Amino acid sequence: MAFSDLGLSERVLEAVTQSGYTEPTPIQAQAIPEVLAKRDVIGIAQTGTGKTASFVLPMLTRLESGRARARMPRTLIVEPTRELAAQVEQNFDKYGVNHKLTVALLIGGVSFDEQEKKLDRGADVLIATPGRLLDHFGRGKLLLTGVEILVIDEADRMLDMGFIPDIERICSLVPARRQTLFFSATMAPEISRLTEQFLRDPVRIETSRPASAAENVKQWVVATSATPKDKRAVLRDQIRGAEGLSNAIVFCNRKRDVATLHNSLKRHGFTAGALHGDMDQHQRMAMLESFRSGETPILVASDVAARGLDIPKVSHVFNYDLPVNADDYVHRIGRTGRAGRSGVAIALCTPADKQALDRIEKLIGTSIEKQNADAFSGSDDSEQDSAPRRSRRSRKGKSSDRQPAKEEPRQEAKKPDHASVKSADVEEGKQSGEKPAPRKNRKNEPERELAATAFGNEDFVPAFMLRQTRFARS
Ligand code: AMP
Repeated sequence: MAFSDLGLSERVLEAVTQSGYTEPTPIQAQAIPEVLAKRDVIGIAQTGTGKTASFVLPMLTRLESGRARARMPRTLIVEPTRELAAQVEQNFDKYGVNHKLTVALLIGGVSFDEQEKKLDRGADVLIATPGRLLDHFGRGKLLLTGVEILVIDEADRMLDMGFIPDIERICSLVPARRQTLFFSATMAPEISRLTEQFLRDPVRIETSRPASAAENVKQWVVATSATPKDKRAVLRDQIRGAEGLSNAIVFCNRKRDVATLHNSLKRHGFTAGALHGDMDQHQRMAMLESFRSGETPILVASDVAARGLDIPKVSHVFNYDLPVNADDYVHRIGRTGRAGRSGVAIALCTPADKQALDRIEKLIGTSIEKQNADAFSGSDDSEQDSAPRRSRRSRKGKSSDRQPAKEEPRQEAKKPDHASVKSADVEEGKQSGEKPAPRKNRKNEPERELAATAFGNEDFVPAFMLRQTRFARS
């Protein structure tokens, strides 16, 4: 199958050739003809599959006829985060080089004035995060009655961030007879319900099994104690020993851990940067650019800040924390092995993470290789009785042989309490997206609570954690 078989315009085909793409990816081959035929589409595809071009290319072709009117965008793309929205805008710049289209980006963290000026000029393409879009609408600066194509991208992320009510509102503000393109990596029941409510006779395109992990990513997990100091030592060992590491994203579950880990890595001589929801838009963009260019090869990041980012050449992904939500694991490791390249994903697993690991393995339908396999064998329960309990003080002494004692700030050893885990999550969504996340819409709530409780139980050490583990050292 060639791009020229899909019905795209000459101008778009020229831009595709300039991009160096020789063949459409599976999602592109299937979705592009349907979008051009004005059908509603449900695309179940992970990032890294070429899904952005699967809607941008046919949209460009469709937009060649007709023109935009002031404050009435012709097409609307809704993205869960500012970075993703900016990335889609870059795709329009790249594939739309032969077009004279007005693309407006409405994201939080930047002034309303410039965005209003663009809207006044008339936007062919409006790319927005839900909160900022509704803010402009509320100010009367925007009419959505001219929208011919609505794209909802990364719907599962919208769900995680509590944006579903906003999406429902947006869907009710655009004309009933628009075309809707709906993309999600996974199809949770809440997401299926949305598609039933707002799409008309959609064609369903699935390029890979929902929540399947990329096959070209080699994955393994390493057992570690839950003590932050030990975890950081294990991570450093893994980074130093990683073969062919050119750059890496290190994921943490909480943004305060992003900052701590980032500082620790720098102290240990790594060139590392951080990406989290407390950074302003300018800092985030600068950080991403520095990572993309290779100037900062290690990026410590939270999920919300890093979700869906298109950084084509990431050789390694480290899960410093295993995500509580199994879907997030798939998204995280999807940052490597993009566009057919191979990649490596290494996760640290504490005793409290064993349930999370089970859920992940269940979701991806495969058992992940264990580097120190004996540490994973046997259940916690069976070993509890025979294992001597060791105090945290004695564990501390042991880990201090690995690194200078004064390295770690005291507050890190503090037990994260349940409430702080929750508030960190909510805060992250607020910072990175647009609105505070309504809790009732979050899935896996019981799982989050379970994990938070387990984290708080640091005084208990199952026997398997007391065994010596071996790590490759450089
Ligand atoms: P996406 O899934 O949209 O985030 O795209 C992932 C990466 O694949 C991006 O870096 C694109 O530039 C690249 N890409 C998109 N389409 C193709 C294609 N047909 N051939 C090769 N690379 C592509």
